[in-house]
Amino acid sequence: MKSEGHFLHIASVEQGSLSKGDKVLAQIDKARRLAVMRNHTTAHLLQHALRQVLGDHVHQAGQLVNEKNCRFDFNSFAAMTDEEIAKVEEIVNNEIMNAFPVTMEEMPIEEARKLGAMALFGEKYGDTVRVVTANESIEFCGGTHVSNTSQIGLFKIVSESSVAAGVRRIEAVTGLGVIELLNEFKSVIAQSAKALKLANLTELPEKCASVFAESKEKDKQLESLNQQIANAKLASILENAEEIGGVKVVASKLENTTPDILRKLGDSIKDKNEAAVALFAGVSGEKGTFYCVCTPEAVKKGANAGKIVKETAALTGGKGGGKPDSAMAGAGNIADMDKAVAAFSGIVKGFIA
Ligand SMILES: [Zn+2]
Repeated sequence: MKSEGHFLHIASVEQGSLSKGDKVLAQIDKARRLAVMRNHTTAHLLQHALRQVLGDHVHQAGQLVNEKNCRFDFNSFAAMTDEEIAKVEEIVNNEIMNAFPVTMEEMPIEEARKLGAMALFGEKYGDTVRVVTANESIEFCGGTHVSNTSQIGLFKIVSESSVAAGVRRIEAVTGLGVIELLNEFKSVIAQSAKALKLANLTELPEKCASVFAESKEKDKQLESLNQQIANAKLASILENAEEIGGVKVVASKLENTTPDILRKLGDSIKDKNEAAVALFAGVSGEKGTFYCVCTPEAVKKGANAGKIVKETAALTGGKGGGKPDSAMAGAGNIADMDKAVAAFSGIVKGFIA
């Protein structure tokens, strides 16, 4: 509890008993307390640096300091650029390396205001306030601080993000937390290099780019191969077409076929100068797709690709539709696609006059 710079500590008795007037020894975890102090003084230096880099409109909108990190929320609408983040880090680290003493002083509130001490917006203060000064950073604050900025060791921003409209958040680490962060990055880089079978870490960016480009190239080759296989199948599919009321009806399911290939296959039939209705069903990854086309002659005889594909896909629990000459639908259950393909000629029959 904060009251003019004094702290009230609450303790529970786990063993024995206490009576009024007993002397007790209150101990703190020094390492933890020092880490909290480092992060709290850093929050002050950070606010000052942000005002230098982003402007005087920057005010603290929230703060959470503990032994792990320094979280600082401030009012601002724009995300910080990489340059601004680097500048803020540089300013704070210079304040640390210049080893400024951190002083805490209680004074009348009017005097503190004359010093230009930063107060929290909307916070009620008493007649006497505590002012914490570290070089040019002067703040109203009742918190715990290091006695010299050099005790912070080092400062590094981990992230800068949005938490609410007009409020940005900086998460940062100090002291040994920076070393921990470095080791974490080092380990991620080493694991990535190992996965790519690289001995030299500096080759990592180039290797990542080349592996990615290679994989994209292989995708293209694979698609082209699948297209060739599909084209070869197309010839035999057409030979075995069923004839319903003067309309050729074909339905075929192809594995490892993207919707793009289905479209190309269908479109190669769509403009044929005879009455034909075709369905191409394909499975690519976890996704099943139906593509139905009707030639102009077939449309004249009552065929409608949009309606036909809708009925076909419905047999798998899927949905879709489109124009009378071409339409696409997604399959629901891939396992039911064969059943839908088998039912296709029956569905078409219902449309041909
Ligand atoms: Zn403070």
